[in-house]
Amino acid sequence: MKKININKLSALFYCLLFIFCVFSMHLYGRTSQHTITFGLWMMASLYVTAKVSRKLFTGYFVFSVVIALLYGVTGLLYGKMSYGIVTALFNTDTGEATEFILTIPIKIYLILFAYLILSIITYKAYKKANINQKKGKTFYILSSLVVIIFMINPIKSLTNAYNTNNRLLKVLKGIHYYPFRVPADFTYYTKDYFDKLAEFERIKQAPDTFNITKTEPQHQINVMIIGESMRRDYMSLYGYPHPTTPFLDKTPSTIWDDYISPSGATALALERSLFAHKKDKIEEQIYTDSVTALAKKAGYYQYWISNQGVFSMYSTAATMASLKADYRWFNSSKNKDFISHSDIGLLQQLDYAINDKANQPKLITLHISGSHSKFCSRMSNEYKIKRFKQLEDKELSCYLNSLRQTDNFIELVYNQLKSTGKSFSIMYFSDHGLSTFMTKLSGFHLTHSGKYKQNFDVPMIILSSDNNVQKHIEARKSGYDFMALFAQWLGIEETSLKERGKKMFDESEEKPIYVFDFSKVVKYDSLKIDEAAVLPKSANLILE
Ligand SMILES: [Zn+2]
Repeated sequence: MKKININKLSALFYCLLFIFCVFSMHLYGRTSQHTITFGLWMMASLYVTAKVSRKLFTGYFVFSVVIALLYGVTGLLYGKMSYGIVTALFNTDTGEATEFILTIPIKIYLILFAYLILSIITYKAYKKANINQKKGKTFYILSSLVVIIFMINPIKSLTNAYNTNNRLLKVLKGIHYYPFRVPADFTYYTKDYFDKLAEFERIKQAPDTFNITKTEPQHQINVMIIGESMRRDYMSLYGYPHPTTPFLDKTPSTIWDDYISPSGATALALERSLFAHKKDKIEEQIYTDSVTALAKKAGYYQYWISNQGVFSMYSTAATMASLKADYRWFNSSKNKDFISHSDIGLLQQLDYAINDKANQPKLITLHISGSHSKFCSRMSNEYKIKRFKQLEDKELSCYLNSLRQTDNFIELVYNQLKSTGKSFSIMYFSDHGLSTFMTKLSGFHLTHSGKYKQNFDVPMIILSSDNNVQKHIEARKSGYDFMALFAQWLGIEETSLKERGKKMFDESEEKPIYVFDFSKVVKYDSLKIDEAAVLPKSANLILE
C-alpha cells in the first residue's frame, strides 16, 4: 500500500515537473515548436540531478526559477535573449526604463505569480515523492543523453571554422539548452557588444589610406540605396515575366546586367562591398577605408539613414561603413533586433537630408529592409501600390510584393529628388540574392545560401536627373570592385581605384569572378543555377 503511494507521488511529481519545465521555457522567451524539446531536456536533466542528490536538485531547481523570474518579463514580451535585447538594455536611459516598467501589462505579473506558485508546488511534490536515489539503467542512459546533447553545440562551435577569436565566447554561444542558455547568451552578447563599440571607436579615429587626386561631382545630390535580398531574375527590369518593378522598367537609367555581389548574406556582402581591400587580395578588407571615408575625404557632406538596426547581427558591417558620415540615423537602434517597420519611414529623413546644408554636394545613403526574410511581415499599407494577390504560394507572393514595394520606394525617392529641381543621381543595388528552399511541410521559401549563382545575382542601377535613355552594361562585374564603381559614380579620382572604376562603366570583362560562399572564396562560374519560380498561368494576377 505504501509503495503504491510513493509511485503515485512520484508520478504526480514528474507531471508537475514537465509542466514546470515547459512553463519555464515561456519565461525564457521560447514559444516556438522548440518549447517541448527544450522542456524535455530540462526535465531530463532535473531528473538526473534528483537521482544524484537532493542538494544538487534543489540548487538546480532554484537556479531555473530565479533565471525565469529575472528574465520572465522580457522573455514573455520580446522572446529569447538576443543581440537586440542586450543592446536595448545598454542603450536605455532611466526615463525609458521607468516607462518600460510602468507599461508592463498586468497579465505578465499574473503569469509570473502563477509560475512562482507552480514552482513551489512542484518543489513540495518533489520532497513528498522522496525520489529513490538508487541509480538504475534509466538513470545511466538518461544522464549520458543529457550530457551528450548539452555538449554537442559547444563542441561544434569550437570546431566551426567561421569565428576565430575567443574560445570561451564560442563555447558560450554554443550553450543551447535552458536555463543555462539565458545567462550564457547574455554574457556572449554583452561581450560582443562592447567589443564592437571599441572597434567602432578605433575605426572612427583611425586615418584612411585613400589618395584622392581629383574630385568632380557630377550631381548635387547623390543617393545610394542599399537594397536587401533582391534577386535580379525576379525583377521585371531584368526579364521576369510579371511586373515586379514597373517604375524601374520604364525609367531612364544605367543598368548593370551582370553585377555579382561578393557574398550571399548581408554582413558578409556589405563588408566586402563597402570597404576597400588590399591590392589583389580581395579577402583583406581595410576597415578604415570605407565608402563614407572616401566620400568624406572627397568633400561630400554625408547622411547615413538606415532601416536596419545599428547593432543587429546583420548590420555590423553597414554600421562600421557608416562611421564617417556626418549625420547618422538608425530606425531601430533602441528596441529591436531586426526591424519590422516599412522603409517609407526613411523618406522623412531623406527630406531632412535634402533640405539640410543646401549648397554642398552631398551623399545620402538609405539602407532599406526591402525584401528581408519573413517577406510577409514586410508588407506595409503605407505603400499605395498594386499587389499580386491570390497566388497559391503565400511566401512567393509576399516576396514579389516586397519587390514592388522597393520599386515604389525608389520611385518615391526619385520624385522627392526631382521636386527639388536640383541635379541628382540615385544608385540602387541589393546586398545579395537568395535561393529556393523547398520543404514538404511549408512549401516554397527563399533563403540565404552560397551555393547558387542567384545568391549573388543582384541589381545594380544608376538613375540620374540627366539620363534620357536606358543604357545596359552587359559585361559581368564583380561586387568586390564596388568601391571603384562608387568612386567613379561620385567623380572621385583615387589612385588605386581609378582604373578599375572606369572599367566598371564599360564592357570590359574580367575573368574569373569570385564570390565568398560563407566559408571560402569560390569561382562564380562553378556555382549551380537556381531557376526563378514561374507563376502558374491560372494564378491570374490581380493588381488591385
Ligand atoms: Zn541582406
